[in-house]
Amino acid sequence: MTTTEPAETERTRLRRMRHKGSHQRAALDAVLAAGFVCHLGVLVDETPMVLPTTYGVVGDTLYVHGSVASRSLVQAQGTTVCVTVTHVDGLVLARSIFEHSVNYRSAMIYSVPRAVTDPKEKLGALRALTEQCLPGQWEYGRQPSRKELAATTLLALDLNEASVKTRSGPPDDGDSPDAALGLWAGVLPVTPMWGTPVPDPLLSPRVGMPAHVLTRAGTPVDRTSHGSSR
Ligand SMILES: Cc1cc2nc3c(=O)[nH]c(=O)nc-3n(C[C@H](O)[C@H](O)[C@H](O)COP(=O)(O)OP(=O)(O)OC[C@H]3O[C@@H](n4cnc5c(N)ncnc54)[C@H](O)[C@@H]3O)c2cc1C
Repeated sequence: MTTTEPAETERTRLRRMRHKGSHQRAALDAVLAAGFVCHLGVLVDETPMVLPTTYGVVGDTLYVHGSVASRSLVQAQGTTVCVTVTHVDGLVLARSIFEHSVNYRSAMIYSVPRAVTDPKEKLGALRALTEQCLPGQWEYGRQPSRKELAATTLLALDLNEASVKTRSGPPDDGDSPDAALGLWAGVLPVTPMWGTPVPDPLLSPRVGMPAHVLTRAGTPVDRTSHGSSR
């Protein structure tokens, strides 16, 4: 599938720490591939609301979904929204409090969402959302009925106006006068991991755990090489 490079616009031009930024599609794809939760910033009745929500990606489109009763998803349609995806890779513990920082990968996307009405696109989007969370789950689970599809709002956001920002590496004060203080400094890495699956207490003992769930236990949530190499 061909993809479009996001354009650097006045809005996505990084003002501070420009060297940490990118407008490359590959960088955006890497951040999106590494997670499944985004934050959707939308004006609801003129008040900003930032909603944590899951997402899926198909080509140049990011999908979010929710109930047809969701005020934020209704009011987001036709207005500019801002979506962020954030991965925290470590705490950067410097000598001075001022130089403390976070190692991270983050993406910010501006878009005017379009409501998805075509049932085929809706199903494809739900598949992408499900597979983004846990590959294999879409085929394993019972797929949505027509009634369930009708009760679900799906918004499509194009990825044409986006930026990526990252920080990695040690603290910035290793060669400053504070280095003489003799304080420990460095990075405290963080890697979110999947835990041991907990069966539903109402589950019949005859139902075994599918391989795509079983094999996730003890592995990094970030499936990209960035996450699993640490
Ligand atoms: C986990 C985490 C913790 C952070 N903690 C801090 C903190 O404590 N203090 C602090 O000052 N900053 C922090 N940042 C960086 C913060 O997200 C902003 O990049 C920074 O504050 C600059 O803000 P600004 O208003 O000057 O943005 P500007 O540079 O004016 O933003 C212009 C454009 O640059 C792009 N952009 C800006 N920031 C990001 C980003 N993070 N990801 C993708 N695109 C971006 C967007 O397209 C935006 O429209 C943190 C980032 C992460 C991911």
